[in-house]
Amino acid sequence: MRIKCEMDVVNRILPSMNVKKGGKGCHTQLSIGRKPQSGSKEGVLFLMACTAKDMNGTKFQIRDNIEQIFAKFINEGKATIRLKDPPQDLCLCKADPLQLKNFLTLIRKASLGQNIDKINLSTLAPASNKNVDKPKTKMTVTSRKDYPLTKSFPSQLEYLQVSQCRMKKIDSRIFQLKKLLHLDLSENVIEELPSSSFSQLKILQELKLCANKLQSLPSSLCLLPNWKQCLSLLDLSNNSISLLPVQLCELDNLVTLKVDQNKLETFPPTIGKLRKLKYLSASQNQIDVLPCSFMQLRLEHLDLFNNPFADVTKSDLEETEWQVPSLVECCARMIRKNRLPYTEEDLHGHLCRYLDSARVCWCGGFCFQSCVRAMTSFSLKTLSPTVSAVDLRGRTDVPILLFLCSPQCQKKYITNPYAYWR
Ligand SMILES: [Zn+2]
Repeated sequence: MRIKCEMDVVNRILPSMNVKKGGKGCHTQLSIGRKPQSGSKEGVLFLMACTAKDMNGTKFQIRDNIEQIFAKFINEGKATIRLKDPPQDLCLCKADPLQLKNFLTLIRKASLGQNIDKINLSTLAPASNKNVDKPKTKMTVTSRKDYPLTKSFPSQLEYLQVSQCRMKKIDSRIFQLKKLLHLDLSENVIEELPSSSFSQLKILQELKLCANKLQSLPSSLCLLPNWKQCLSLLDLSNNSISLLPVQLCELDNLVTLKVDQNKLETFPPTIGKLRKLKYLSASQNQIDVLPCSFMQLRLEHLDLFNNPFADVTKSDLEETEWQVPSLVECCARMIRKNRLPYTEEDLHGHLCRYLDSARVCWCGGFCFQSCVRAMTSFSLKTLSPTVSAVDLRGRTDVPILLFLCSPQCQKKYITNPYAYWR
């Protein structure tokens, strides 16, 4: 029987002699096996620890030599084996909890001299490099022939890139990689993103999906708690996305968003909620107007090059009669204002879509049909010091579409159309 873990050996005598204990744990392969000895037919049971520095391993007798086993944190893969001779504590961590449980049960039985004949023991042979080396945390696959089909992905991966492999669906084995921080699946032919599987990547920080065949970003993905808490980079460039979900604006920790070369016509109306967003690029889309809340962003880099923005020279206010909002609209305004959560589980689908379609007034309030549209021109230079022009003529003024939720807001707008961002 064999397990891999990190082990720190602590000598119990040294602290009393005022010598500090050993340093960090190192990658260790622990095995239990028999060593032939004179006077014993079967051989005596030994625990062997092999590390990269000590490939031949150190052996410790097990029978009547285990003073205590500390296993309070066994579910976290941690335990300590206290030996009598030498007076050392073997502090184990980062082990697989289930394997560790079986391993410690076996040691306990063996130390008491119980019968363990039925269990497969290991040979006490020196370890190979593969078993004591630091686990692989980074992997890059850039061709189909290198893709691990029969072998599994190293379980400790933190960075994984799989590109140019013509992957159509994301391999479910990737979602088993619990330590993944960066996932790069650029240049494949992925069409769909499975929300429930992504919820398993609890600490994912960066997701690159550029140059795939995506037509949408599912709103349920943006509502995953792990995405809200951890995701800081999302690259969806070079796909066929025509609409970003409003739920995207719930990704509180998003710092970088790349949506270049898609079919976007605008941004979600609440895009200004992305307070941490610093890098935004959306070049080569079909954007002709920006929502009012775009002006609340504070960016370090903004690229909106090559979008068909309309020309707006002066403020343009729609002339309409004010209508009293319907009861549905009044309720919807309150739901959005108070940020009440809603899903298709508790509301009819068309009501959810209605709620998603809320327009944001410059006062911060929400409105639906009962509102007045206004178009105005806005300089992108106020958003970011290093903004690039939106066309080859060097233009940085773009049209902003805003909605006014009440006669009061309309009156304020007429008095001073620039009051909001001045
Ligand atoms: Zn308003």
